[in-house]
Amino acid sequence: MTDFAELNPPQRLLLGPGPSPVHPQVQRAMAAPSLGHLDPELLRLLSETSELLRYAFQTKNELTLAVSGTGMAGMECVLGNLIEPGDRLVVGVAGFFGARLAELAERMGARVRRVECEWGRDLGFDPLAAAIKEETPKAVAIVHAETSTGVLQPMDEIGELVHRYDSLLIVDCVTSLGGAPVTIDAWDADAAFSGSQKCLGCPSGLAPVTVSERFRNAVKKRTTPVHSFYLDLELLCRYWLGDHLYHHTISAPLVYALHEGLRLVKEEGLVDRWARHRSNAELLWNGLERLGLELHVPRVRRVPSLTTVRVPDGVDEAAVRVKLRDDYGIEIGAGLGPLKGKIWRIGLMGHGSQPANVALLLAALGQILGRD
Ligand SMILES: *Cc1c(COP(=O)(O)O)cnc(C)c1O
Repeated sequence: MTDFAELNPPQRLLLGPGPSPVHPQVQRAMAAPSLGHLDPELLRLLSETSELLRYAFQTKNELTLAVSGTGMAGMECVLGNLIEPGDRLVVGVAGFFGARLAELAERMGARVRRVECEWGRDLGFDPLAAAIKEETPKAVAIVHAETSTGVLQPMDEIGELVHRYDSLLIVDCVTSLGGAPVTIDAWDADAAFSGSQKCLGCPSGLAPVTVSERFRNAVKKRTTPVHSFYLDLELLCRYWLGDHLYHHTISAPLVYALHEGLRLVKEEGLVDRWARHRSNAELLWNGLERLGLELHVPRVRRVPSLTTVRVPDGVDEAAVRVKLRDDYGIEIGAGLGPLKGKIWRIGLMGHGSQPANVALLLAALGQILGRD
């Protein structure tokens, strides 16, 4: 029998596309004694978490909670509660996660019309409008901050457009919630989901979800029950906010984490938090340009929490990431799909968005590339 060493993972500065550094107060909160999933104190924390999530999402939606699972569980949950086989959906595919949305909807039997664009641009209002007009879909699903490209999709007027055709607007806010302005009610969005490990300063494991009354009414009109019991929003709502009927054994340490992460969001204030992400992103952008590196996305469309930078000609992109990890303890991400080998992805998310982290990464990258 082998001797198994005591767990001792290395320190890493997580500056990739997620997960991001866990805030020390969140780390401490997770070490608190566990509680049963029906304990009055845990139920109180769930109710407060729901209220804090309404603040983070900027919504009055009653059905606002977190499903157990990562951001993908949030995606499966929102699509799965709505879609019945044969439903028509328009999906914006501006990168890897837009493609995921489309694939998931198809797996659920939806007939999907993809609105595509080059990886590094936003979808554009007119192509979306044309597709919606043609399809009159049950729902339109788009990604707010496309983590594979670093592009922030402008949300102006999309809600109005979608509702003109009696459709519902679904928005993936996994990389933007807590890091860039997400305003669900002002956007007139009907459903949004996120993940705990991007800009909320928590480890992965809970996926915030919010849905409008319009969305809930559409779910009520289904002719078949929601296929997933685990992700059934009305059952989850009953457990979180209703008579607390047992649904599943939610992880108390993860609830503590999300509650503390969101409490910190509230304490900092959303406007200040967005400004912090923005100003640290600008420090990074300017620093990368000083190193002679080229950013992949025009400044006006950049996601503040996720920067994509082009790999210079003749540089082995993977070797740079390995050196950053092994010699400097810093993690950044690689490109996906058509951008594989062409870009690096640098996240300044949540607690990771700090000037000191920007300075460290720029210094390390400068040394590795011999540009310091
Ligand atoms: C990370 C991410 C997801 C998936 O989240 P997981 O936590 O990895 O399941 C979905 N959409 C976007 C835009 C993301 O950045």
